[in-house]
Amino acid sequence: MPKVMTKSRPKARPGGSRKTKRVYFFGNGKAEGGAHLKDLLGGKGANLADMTLVPLPVPPGFTITTEACGDYNDLGHKFPAGLMDEVKQHLARVEKTTGKKFGDPDNPLLVAVRSGAKVSMPGMMDTVLNIGMNDDVVEGMARLTNNERFAYDSYRRLINMFGDTVMGVDHHHFEAELSAVKSSRGAKLDTDLDAEGLKEVVRRYKKIYHQIVMADFPQDPLVQLEHAIEAVFKSWMGERAIKYRELNDIRGLRGTAVNVQSMVFGNMGDDCATGVAFTRDPSTGENRFYGEFLVNAQGEDVVAGIRTPLDCQSEMGKWSTKSWRELLKIKQTLENRYKDVQDFEFTIERGKLFMLQTRTGKRTAAAAVKIAVDMVKEKLIDRKTAVLRVDPGSLDQLLHPMFDPAARRNVLARGLPASPGAAVGKIAFSAEEAEQRVAAGEPIILVRRETEPADIGGMHVSEGILTSTGGMTSHAAVVARGMGTPCVAGAGDVVIDQNTRLVKIGQKTLGPQDFISIDGATGEVMEGTVPTVKATMSGPFAQLMKWADEYRRLKVRTNGDTPTDARVAREFGAEGIGLCRTEHMFFDPQRIHHMREMILATTVEARKAALAKLLPYQREDFVGIFKQMNGLPVTVRLLDPPLHEFLPHNEKDQMELARSLNKSLEEVRTRVAQLHEANPMLGHRGDRLAITYPEILEMQVRAIIEAACQCKKQGVRVLPEIMIPLVGAKRELDYLKTFTDQTAKLVMAEQGVKVEYLYGTMIEVPRAAVTADQIAHTAQFFSFGTNDLTQMTFGYSRDDANTFLPDYLKKEILERDPFQTLDVEGVGQLIEMAVRKGRQVNPKLKCGICGEHGGDPKSIQLCHRLGLDYVSCSPYRVPIARLAAAHAALLNPVKPGGNGRK
Ligand code: PEP
Ligand code: MG
Repeated sequence: MPKVMTKSRPKARPGGSRKTKRVYFFGNGKAEGGAHLKDLLGGKGANLADMTLVPLPVPPGFTITTEACGDYNDLGHKFPAGLMDEVKQHLARVEKTTGKKFGDPDNPLLVAVRSGAKVSMPGMMDTVLNIGMNDDVVEGMARLTNNERFAYDSYRRLINMFGDTVMGVDHHHFEAELSAVKSSRGAKLDTDLDAEGLKEVVRRYKKIYHQIVMADFPQDPLVQLEHAIEAVFKSWMGERAIKYRELNDIRGLRGTAVNVQSMVFGNMGDDCATGVAFTRDPSTGENRFYGEFLVNAQGEDVVAGIRTPLDCQSEMGKWSTKSWRELLKIKQTLENRYKDVQDFEFTIERGKLFMLQTRTGKRTAAAAVKIAVDMVKEKLIDRKTAVLRVDPGSLDQLLHPMFDPAARRNVLARGLPASPGAAVGKIAFSAEEAEQRVAAGEPIILVRRETEPADIGGMHVSEGILTSTGGMTSHAAVVARGMGTPCVAGAGDVVIDQNTRLVKIGQKTLGPQDFISIDGATGEVMEGTVPTVKATMSGPFAQLMKWADEYRRLKVRTNGDTPTDARVAREFGAEGIGLCRTEHMFFDPQRIHHMREMILATTVEARKAALAKLLPYQREDFVGIFKQMNGLPVTVRLLDPPLHEFLPHNEKDQMELARSLNKSLEEVRTRVAQLHEANPMLGHRGDRLAITYPEILEMQVRAIIEAACQCKKQGVRVLPEIMIPLVGAKRELDYLKTFTDQTAKLVMAEQGVKVEYLYGTMIEVPRAAVTADQIAHTAQFFSFGTNDLTQMTFGYSRDDANTFLPDYLKKEILERDPFQTLDVEGVGQLIEMAVRKGRQVNPKLKCGICGEHGGDPKSIQLCHRLGLDYVSCSPYRVPIARLAAAHAALLNPVKPGGNGRK
C-alpha cells in the first residue's frame, strides 16, 4: 500500500519532539507569551509576560509551561528530553538582558522560582528565592553591595527555603538553629543579628541540611535550579494540591507552570522597599490606591508581620515622590489593561521600581458591587461583565446588619449558617418567654433545642434564633430565613437546660441575663455584645440589580405568608408570591384555638362551625397580601402539615384546651393519641387532609375567592393561584378540583364578581414527577416543592438528616448538601422529566420552584437550564435570586431553536 503523505504537524509526545516549546522568555519589553496563554503559562506566568509587553518594569525571566509539568508526571517523574537545555538557553537570555551571570561571584545573577497554575492554588509549592547563591557568590554579593549582612541574610534564606520546600527538611529545624544563634548572641529579632551572627546561622543551616538530606547543600547554581523546578513539578501531584483541586472543583488542568525570574532586592538599604497593593479599596470599593510597603525589607517580611507596614497613600510620597508617582501610574495602567481591580506586588531596588506579580483582587460584596458599577461608568467594562462580576451569594452580606468587621469576637460555638445577619440579645428559653421579655423591652435571642410551628410568635419578635439541633431546612432555619431573622442552627456544643434555665457551651455557663451574639452568615455563636453596622440598599446595588433584570429570563417570586413579607419582598423586587404557606396563619394565639376546636370536632357540622370562625382571619390575611401584590400572581398553598402539630402535647395545655372547649381531658388525649403517627412526614398531611376533610379545603378556597372579590371591587388586580400540596396521583387532584371549582363558583355568585384563578399542584412526591403527563391534564401549573422532593427522592428525613449528612459530606459520599443545592443527577432529572412530560400535554403549563433551593444560586442555574418559568424564595433572598438568574441567562445563552420561554 502506498504511504500517504500528510501535512499535519507532528504531534508533541511526552519526552519527545524538538518542536515542542516548553520555555517562554519575558524581559526588557519583549515576551514570547502573553495574557492569552494562561492555560500554558499559568496565571502568574501569563501576566508576567503581559506586563512585560505593556511595558511595565518586570524583572526578566522565563516560564516553563504547564505542559512540561504534565509531561514530567506522565513520564514517571522525569524531565522531558531537552528541557534543561531549553532552560539554560533562556537563562542565557536573562543573563544577557540583566548583564549579570548565574554563579559568577563578581557579578551574580540570582533567581526566584515560583509555581503558578492557571488558577491560583494555595495547596502548591510557593517560592524559593535567591537561587544561585553559594559560598563564593555570597562573598561576591557582600563585596558588590558593600553589605555583608545583606549577603549572608540572603544566603541563609535560600538554604532555609530550598531545604524546606525543595528537599523536605522541616522548617522547625531551621527555626531552632536560628533561635539558638539569637539567644547565644542576645538578639531579640532576626534583624538584630549582625553579619557574624548570620554567618553562624548559615553554618548551622548547612549542618542541619547535611544531617537530614545526607548530602551537602548544593553549591552548583544549576543543580539548585534544576531541583527547585522539579520540586514545583512534584508539588502539582502533592496531596495538598490534589485535595485543593478536588474541593474547589478544579478539573482538566495538566500541571503548574514554573516561573524563573531574576531577583530584585527590597532589602539592600533605605532606598529599597517592598510592598503589596490593590488598585482600589477591596473592602469598600472606593477608587483609591490601597497598599502597604516596608522600607528595606523582602516580600516575606510584609506577610510575616514582623514589622508594621506603612500606608502607601499617606506615607510613600514622603519617602519617595518618584516611586509614589510611578505607582499611581501603574494603578491606572493595570486597570486599563485588565479591566478589573488588581492585587499586585512590587519591589523598589535602589530607587527603581519592579513589578513582581499582578492578579485579580479579591473583594467584599459591597466593594464588588461598587467597583462593577463604577467601572461601567468609567467605560472600562460593559454591563454584562459588571453583572457577572458580582457573586450572587455574596449579596447576603449587603442585606442584613453585619457585625463590625473590626470588632473582636469571642467565639463559643459554631453551628450552621442558617439565616444570615448579625443578632445580639439576651437568652430566652421559650417562645412565650421571648414574647414577654421583648414586650418588656429586652433584646432577645431565642435559644431552643429546635423550634416548632407553635414558636412562631416568639421567633418573630426575637433578634435571632439559635438551635442546638436541626439542619439548613429545619423549621428554625426555614422560618428564620423567611423572616429575615438571623439564625444559627444545629450548634451541637450548645447544651440547653430548660429546668435550670442555663445554657452550657464548653466551659461557659450562661443564664437569661447574659448577652450572646450570633452570626447567621458564618454560624458563629459569640459571648457578649459584638457591635454591628447597618446594611443599606445603596445606589450602586440598586443599579446593578436593574441591569441584572435586563438579562434574566427566570422570574423571581417570594415565599411569604403575611402582608409584611409581601411588602418587603416587593421592595426587593419580587414579581409575585410563589408560595404562601397557609398553616403559618393558624398559629396566632387567637386562631389556634379555633383550629384546635376544628381538629377536635367529631362531626362534619361541628368541624364546619369551627372552620367558619377561622374564615374571617384567613380572608383578611389574603386581602392584605393581594393588596401588597397588586397586579402580581399569588400562589396560595392549602393546608399541609399533619394536624397533630396544632395540638398541645403537655398535660397542662391539654387540660386548658379541654376546659375551654367544654370537653374532658380524656377526649383531648384520645384525639392526640389518634393523630399520633410513626412517620408524620409520610402520613396524614398535604392533600390527604383535604381528601379526608374537604370542608377544610372549602373554607380556604372560600377565603381566597372572597378576598379576591373584595380586592377586585376595590380596584386591586388579583391573580390567585390555588395550589394543592403533596399530590402523587392525578385522581387526587381531580377529586379536589370539584370542591375547589364549586366553592369558587358559589362565592363569585354570592359576591357578584368574577375572578380568574389558576388551579395547580406542588410536585414534591416522586410519583407526581413520573406521572406529570397525567397530572398536567388537570393542573394549570406545577410548583416544585424541592424540600419534600429531595426528602422523598433520597429517602433522607429533612428533619433528621443532620445526624448523618455531615459525615456524607466529610467523606465525600455527597458533594453538596442536597437540601441546600439541588441534586442535579437525581432530583434534577425528576424535575426535567416532569417539566417535559407536563408541557407535552399542556404547552402553557407554568412551572416554578418554591423549595429552599429557589434562593440558592447554583440551583437557580439548574432551574434556568430546565426551562422553569420562575423561582420563589424567601424575601431576603430575592435580590440574590435576581442576580443568579441573570448569571444563568448570561452563561447559558438560548441556542437558536432552543427553549426561549418567557
Ligand atoms: C417543599 O416541600 O419544598 C415546600 C416548599 O413545602 P414545605 O417546605 O412547606 O414542605
Ligand atoms: Mg413540602
